[in-house]
Amino acid sequence: MTSVSVRDLTLKFGALEVLKSLSIDIDEGEFLVLLGPSGCGKSTLLNCIAGLLDVSDGQIIISGRNVTWEEPSNRGIGMVFQSYALYPQMTVEGNLGFGLKNARMPKDEIVSRITRAAEVLQIEPLLKRKPAQLSGGQRQRVAIGRALVRDVEVFLFDEPLSNLDAKLRAELRVEIKRLHQKLQNTMIYVTHDQIEALTLADRIAVMRAGTIQQLGNPHEIYNRPVNLYVAGFMGSPG
Ligand code: ADP
Ligand code: MG
Repeated sequence: MTSVSVRDLTLKFGALEVLKSLSIDIDEGEFLVLLGPSGCGKSTLLNCIAGLLDVSDGQIIISGRNVTWEEPSNRGIGMVFQSYALYPQMTVEGNLGFGLKNARMPKDEIVSRITRAAEVLQIEPLLKRKPAQLSGGQRQRVAIGRALVRDVEVFLFDEPLSNLDAKLRAELRVEIKRLHQKLQNTMIYVTHDQIEALTLADRIAVMRAGTIQQLGNPHEIYNRPVNLYVAGFMGSPG
């Protein structure tokens, strides 16, 4: 089953065409990485899927539903950004529950969802702390937790690890992989880091200037690049 289908998506900022009639089908449960250099349109594509940007042309279908003009909150997606975007005045628990409270979810349901997310992400001891009392890696876990408690079908990640040092990045990479194996939901993950893409992805979409140059599993992308651009960007052998 297709989870997210992007069809002939075009996005313009004024005269600048940032996405050029781009299409991709992402399977249910797939870990799809959008990989490419800075400025190629990765965040723009993710923001269109999330509903944070209005498309110029084309369609976005999520779980069979045309959501091109739906509000972000009605799309069944959860987004994790590069900057942690936590509320500094609230505890971790408060941050995790905020969206659910706004959606008027019953209190016991909120508590049980927070408990489960905290367990999955191993942040139970941090629930009463404020963001300022957390390390970068812990904050990023809380940010992931906020998507997790919403029980969404599709997770969108925009370079979630790029503000962290190399050691933490490697650690969280393993955790995100583990999380995906546990939840088995669809994940769309933006990065400019080839290693991150190769270790995390079921399939990688290599982007260049608003287009997808190649879509394939890590082995194919690395060993059988379709053109010099992909080969150069991946540092492929031969
Ligand atoms: P990436 O995430 O791959 O680094 P982006 O999607 O952020 O790339 O940006 C793609 C292109 O669109 C870049 O040339 C960027 O300068 C441009 N861009 C991004 N956001 C805006 C905006 N709000 N207004 C005008 N141009 C933008
Ligand atoms: Mg970006």
